[in-house]
Amino acid sequence: MEKIRMTTPLVEMDGDEMTRILWQMIKDELLLPYVDLKTEYYDLGLEHRNETDDQVTVDSANATLKYGVAVKCATITPNAARMTEYNLKEMWKSPNGTIRAILDGTVFRAPILIKGIVPYVSKWSKPITIARHAYGDVYKNTEIRVPGPGKAELVFTGEDGTQIRETIHNFTGAGILQGIHNTEKSISSFARSCFNYALDTRQDLWFATKDTISKKYDHTFKDIFQEIYDREYVEKFKELGIDYFYTLIDDAVARVIRSEGGFIWACKNYDGDVMSDMVATAYGDLSMMTSVLVSPDGVYEYEAAHGTVQRHYYKHLKGEETSTNGIATIFAWTGALKKRGELDNIPELTAFGEKLEQACVKTVESGRMTRSLASISTCENPVVLNSLDFIKAIRETLDGLL
Ligand code: NAP
Ligand code: MG
Repeated sequence: MEKIRMTTPLVEMDGDEMTRILWQMIKDELLLPYVDLKTEYYDLGLEHRNETDDQVTVDSANATLKYGVAVKCATITPNAARMTEYNLKEMWKSPNGTIRAILDGTVFRAPILIKGIVPYVSKWSKPITIARHAYGDVYKNTEIRVPGPGKAELVFTGEDGTQIRETIHNFTGAGILQGIHNTEKSISSFARSCFNYALDTRQDLWFATKDTISKKYDHTFKDIFQEIYDREYVEKFKELGIDYFYTLIDDAVARVIRSEGGFIWACKNYDGDVMSDMVATAYGDLSMMTSVLVSPDGVYEYEAAHGTVQRHYYKHLKGEETSTNGIATIFAWTGALKKRGELDNIPELTAFGEKLEQACVKTVESGRMTRSLASISTCENPVVLNSLDFIKAIRETLDGLL
């Protein structure tokens, strides 16, 4: 078979630990034999980030703005332990945070569904994609532990000195206080990313807040979504036969549980934090979650939702066998290749991405899988494979499909 040609390079962001090992295996076994892979390579492994004073992360994000599609391996977010382990000059920021700040995007997470891995919610037959707003609210708060009686006020001072002032509470004893904010710019970007992604994936979009209680804060989220939808998206949604649906957050939770799945659930920052873990767990396994960062002007960065699988990496370094599931990382590549195929009008590339995804699903459905999947699969006698043999089994299935 002749290798599939690409015209525009993918931005390739390499990463750390076990996922870096999987990254190379996936390229060697599942991509390079079939695709004349064009990438612009950025090494976001922690050592190289440290050598470049993290400039490589910024460069990779700028390259993503230039080319439009990136694929990213999981990376270490340094903490105190990593400072000594990697002898770091500084506790570099989370690469995902840096990239997200430059692309101004929203993260969409969706589970990969496979027969034999049964969701805890039995009606969920289609994936639920969570879109989490990633700016502000309690994640950028200011807090006070109130020591005793006194008056708490909310004060805004405009550039011209004029003030808006509201009483929060007259404390008669000790208590607590919290200040949070968001910006119209960030909420609008969030809304556009969600509407674009709904169009892209032809799924309904749900959004929920607590606007009945929070009549200014949450209500502004609701209003901005509605205004942007009415002005820019209503016709496009109609054409594709999809809907935008707003409801209260508590009603949304009840409806999500009763649903069959198959829609995007846009969440405010805190709701998204909590609900994404709930949804991921209910679908079965963290190693089967995909993740894509979508910017409001249509730039895409694909990755797995899980981390670098440090525990498995340390076993690997000791020469012990690992059974790490590469599927979410493979789907990061297929997501990026399919998008490149779509943007550059290379149907063979898109078709290849789809075939490789089918090969992953079929391999697990045939009873061959990694350890964590075997532990939750309803398959009678699953064959547990090591990290590389699992990828080789997927290659065998892929060859059958091609
Ligand atoms: P993790 O890498 O997601 O792994 C946590 C545990 O989940 C693993 O120990 C393993 O459980 C299981 N697991 C996750 N992915 C798996 C896979 N593909 N196959 C099989 N099992 C899998 O989270 P972490 O250990 O908390 O974090 C490690 C590093 O990743 C940290 O330095 C963190 O900063 C980074 N991180 C990066 C990203 C990102 O780049 N997007 C996201 C999250 C975390 P068992 O050990 O029980 O088998
Ligand atoms: Mg969380």
